[in-house]
Amino acid sequence: MRREGGGTIKLERRTDETIRVGEPNPRRGARVVCGMSDPAPQRFLVFGDLHGRILPAFRFASYWARLTERAPCGLLQVGDLGYFPDVARIDKATLRHAKDDPLELGTLDVVERTEIADRTFDDDPHCTFDLWFTAGNHEDFDELERLARASGDQPDFVVDAYCRVRGIKDGAVRDYPISEEQPGLKVGALWGVDGHGANGRKNLPPRGYIAERAVDRLSLEAFDVLLSHDAPKDAKRVGYGSELLAALIESAQPRFAFFGHYSGDGGRSEADYGRTEVYHLAGFELRTRDGSPESGSVGVLEWLNGEGTFELIEDDDLKGFTRHNWKWV
Ligand SMILES: [Zn+2]
Repeated sequence: MRREGGGTIKLERRTDETIRVGEPNPRRGARVVCGMSDPAPQRFLVFGDLHGRILPAFRFASYWARLTERAPCGLLQVGDLGYFPDVARIDKATLRHAKDDPLELGTLDVVERTEIADRTFDDDPHCTFDLWFTAGNHEDFDELERLARASGDQPDFVVDAYCRVRGIKDGAVRDYPISEEQPGLKVGALWGVDGHGANGRKNLPPRGYIAERAVDRLSLEAFDVLLSHDAPKDAKRVGYGSELLAALIESAQPRFAFFGHYSGDGGRSEADYGRTEVYHLAGFELRTRDGSPESGSVGVLEWLNGEGTFELIEDDDLKGFTRHNWKWV
């Protein structure tokens, strides 16, 4: 039932609903539907850097859905997914962190079938959504490029054994239509970080840097949300971030732009980007004292009729979920 082309698919179901978000998992009969005939908003959770915590992100989204009785239809992520499917090719920084924290190696749990991923994806009736990410600066870029190329013309590509985790191609826009007549959210993605300027990162693999041609491609497209890894210049720290990205946001004026990469709590940038609300998402690394998600590491995006809202999830709703209980809570 999976198909390689395009991003949307119709499923025959008893209720005659048209299912537009993601593609169906062949192993799963039903899934939560985004928007339908009733005017419910499309709801996405947006995550900061994961550095391998892919299954914990899915588990958190399921936990939050049960806690709030609000089901997300998809997860979005701002890069540094930590996509290292081959232990022999993990980058040095990730390997160093992994010595103290095996969550850094979480990609290995989803690139082939594992018991914990079976439980997360297949046995949890609340885990009905997929995740889409942009690439950061800590990924296996060769493998991401290979998978992106192999996927043909579609804007996104599957990176896991369960077809639940998808990269959006560099400079591409993935849309999530509600029905044939009704458009939904459009998400553009830009990979990498800016290497220019006094504070630019050095010594990354070439694909770890923002590609000008991807910025050019996005400047010709319409999109509501921009997922990037680096910040637009000065959005988080003065003197840090990308001028190209700032120029793109200023000209394209998406409704929201989300980025990760930087330490510190997440929050809205105080800089003025016109119509665009720009947010930093803190890393979702579960390194707080009690092991719960970092402040401002996840937010809720709701979208309806070309307009939307975004708010970070309050600390009170993060606390019950920790690196110690994530498999069970
Ligand atoms: Zn980063």
